[in-house]
Amino acid sequence: MEKYGIDKPDLRNPLIIQDATELFENTEFNAFKDKTIKIIVVPNGAEQGRKFFDKMGEFAMSEEVGAKGLAWTKITAEKQVEGGIAKFITEDIKEKLINQFGAKENSAIFFIADEFKKAQKIAGLVRIELGKRLDLIEKNVYKFCFIVDFPMYELTDDGKIDFGHNPFSMPHGGLEALNTQNPLDIVAYQFDWVCNGYEMASGAVRNHDPEIMVKAFEIAGYTKEDVETRFGALFNAFQYGTPPHAGAAPGIDRMVMLIADSTNIREVIAFPKNKKARDLLMRAPSKVSEEQLKEVHIVTNL
Ligand code: AMP
Repeated sequence: MEKYGIDKPDLRNPLIIQDATELFENTEFNAFKDKTIKIIVVPNGAEQGRKFFDKMGEFAMSEEVGAKGLAWTKITAEKQVEGGIAKFITEDIKEKLINQFGAKENSAIFFIADEFKKAQKIAGLVRIELGKRLDLIEKNVYKFCFIVDFPMYELTDDGKIDFGHNPFSMPHGGLEALNTQNPLDIVAYQFDWVCNGYEMASGAVRNHDPEIMVKAFEIAGYTKEDVETRFGALFNAFQYGTPPHAGAAPGIDRMVMLIADSTNIREVIAFPKNKKARDLLMRAPSKVSEEQLKEVHIVTNL
């Protein structure tokens, strides 16, 4: 997340995000004060004209991305800082950008200032867009990675603790971790297998122990009764001594999409559903007769 701002990174894109919050601790630039600062150094980005930077700013400030701005500057061939927010780049900051953050002659640097999570997310989207617009994405390769250590819990927008991903996964450290650690520090045995920015498979080690399950749900605000009534099937099955187990679900259609060099999953599905989620070939969903319902033991009062 630190480097890519997203949990399914496209590793064909060579750009990475870096945290430069410390550099701007005493900045005079109001937009950067008391904010997390994420930066993206773009080699040879200084070749781009004003219009490119303006258009990137428009993208960042669009509703779907939600940035408050997209500051930028350039390092010239003579290692001078020029353009954009150059006046806020002190000699000390410039040295660090060059020596610690890998900015070189002709680099452009983009800056995102916001609350930590938002800055990370925006930087992730800006990274992807820069990769596309500058044609930096490596061609004809599949770049794979495993994403591991998903946070077990997250804070919701209104400050409550909720499950990060799959509530039925085993937390690292089991019951002891749930009893002793800050929930937000606990990671789960969950993994994703990612290729070129797409999730190919998702998996987890199941939380198969009823006691750990109840505790895990309790932290997310559910009582034991909630677990028994809402997730009764699993909870009851686990009473009979379920062995530890894990599994993953691959998305075969996404794999085919990548092999077919397509970016639209509908193109590799034989009979894709339309925008209203209707299957036009099977004419589904549609009405069934009382007779048919009876055959499968469904009783209605209609
Ligand atoms: P201003 O001082 O408002 O003219 O902004 C100068 C530059 O900083 C512009 O390129 C803005 O897009 C950019 N900027 C403003 N707020 C932010 C922010 N929160 N993060 C990154 N850049 C910003």
